[in-house]
Amino acid sequence: MTFFFQTSCPLLLLNFFLVPVIVSLSTNFKTLYQVVIIGGGLAGLCSALHLSLAGIKVLLIEKNDYPKHKVCGEYVSNEVLPYLGWLGFDPLEFGAQKIEYLNLSTVKGRKLEVKLPLGGFGLSRYCFDWELAKKCLEAGTEIQKETVTDVEFIDPHFTVKTQAGGEISTEFVIGSFGKRSKLDIALKRPFIQNSSSYLAVKAHYKAEFPNDLVELHNFEGGYCGLSKVETQNVNVCYITTYRSFKKYKNINDFQEKVLEQNEYLKSIFQSSEMVFDKALSISQISFDKKNPIENHIIMSGDSAGMIHPLAGNGMSMAIRSAQMASVLLLGFFSGEISTRRELEEQYASRWKREFSTRLMAGRIISKSFQWGLFSELLLLFFKKNPFILKRIIRKTHGKPMEIQ
Ligand SMILES: Cc1cc2nc3c(=O)[nH]c(=O)nc-3n(C[C@H](O)[C@H](O)[C@H](O)COP(=O)(O)OP(=O)(O)OC[C@H]3O[C@@H](n4cnc5c(N)ncnc54)[C@H](O)[C@@H]3O)c2cc1C
Repeated sequence: MTFFFQTSCPLLLLNFFLVPVIVSLSTNFKTLYQVVIIGGGLAGLCSALHLSLAGIKVLLIEKNDYPKHKVCGEYVSNEVLPYLGWLGFDPLEFGAQKIEYLNLSTVKGRKLEVKLPLGGFGLSRYCFDWELAKKCLEAGTEIQKETVTDVEFIDPHFTVKTQAGGEISTEFVIGSFGKRSKLDIALKRPFIQNSSSYLAVKAHYKAEFPNDLVELHNFEGGYCGLSKVETQNVNVCYITTYRSFKKYKNINDFQEKVLEQNEYLKSIFQSSEMVFDKALSISQISFDKKNPIENHIIMSGDSAGMIHPLAGNGMSMAIRSAQMASVLLLGFFSGEISTRRELEEQYASRWKREFSTRLMAGRIISKSFQWGLFSELLLLFFKKNPFILKRIIRKTHGKPMEIQ
């Protein structure tokens, strides 16, 4: 199996990035890892880095090459900064934009600006995931480009099966394969039976836009987020329902006839130039409940549960759950936690304690802004009582992460 990074890199990193990393996994060859992580988005990468820095033998399996653009709002809450710093990752080093203000508008164009209680930063996933992957390799993580097709648990080991026929033996599996994967079908996760009603579109644009601002503009059937990333381009990302989208011919038609009904979105689309060849889109987004432990796999990030993007908090939840899983696994390897069962119970209860309120707040906020007149009244109310909006923002976000 080979793993490629798609770029040229400084000489120092030649060893890692220009030469394909050969991973010792061929068909039916079994290697014992302490932890196998499935999916190398933010959740998987942060766990891989955390555990590798602690000397754990980790294999991260990611189905795509790095770097790669992902459909995401690319606004990250500052709550993750202490932990990222501890992992040796400073987003500002890569040109992340510091974001302090939020502009919100309703479908009819009623607008409100607030200072964000904690603030955040704008960094593209193209850069964020890739730079973290480099740090993982430096810390000793093995990364394999492969698709995991199934995971079997026969106490005390897992066998992780890949599309190319590989079988990898490991003591623990972290499932960080995102919101929806074919692996969810193989694992027979209940949520995968339900149809999901959302799709999302994203592209980067050259546009006049303040560096320190994130904007959330509602339109009929969805909302659109805008903020600058490290390239000085503006990331424009929106989520909507199939029901709203299917009445239109294509993305351009939808943007013109629906998004541009909001005057702020209209002025952005009409005065900016798309940097991508074409917009990226994803479908099948659902916010259904999932279990943080499934078939003894420790689920983290969107694999454990996804918050509505309007809350702007999915990435920090992914990073926070990665820390939670890593700390507990290190507790197990050091003997502080004595059984798998104890580890699983602690993870599930911490996960619920940490994220249940946020998930609920995210659901309520996203619904509220879709009820026409109600959303207009809500915005008026927030204008008069900005402290209540700040309180709600705090509910969907956590406090700055503690180093554990
Ligand atoms: C439209 C939209 C806008 C958003 N905006 C924001 C925002 O502004 N701020 C914010 O904080 N959050 C936002 N989010 C949420 C955020 O993108 C996610 O919460 C975050 O990406 C979760 O990270 P993750 O590591 O769990 O999953 P991902 O980043 O999705 O990573 C999962 C990885 O697993 C890999 N994978 C999947 N299946 C397999 C397999 N079988 N084998 C191997 N690899 C596999 C995938 O290739 C992928 O790289 C948004 C989400 C959407 C949909």
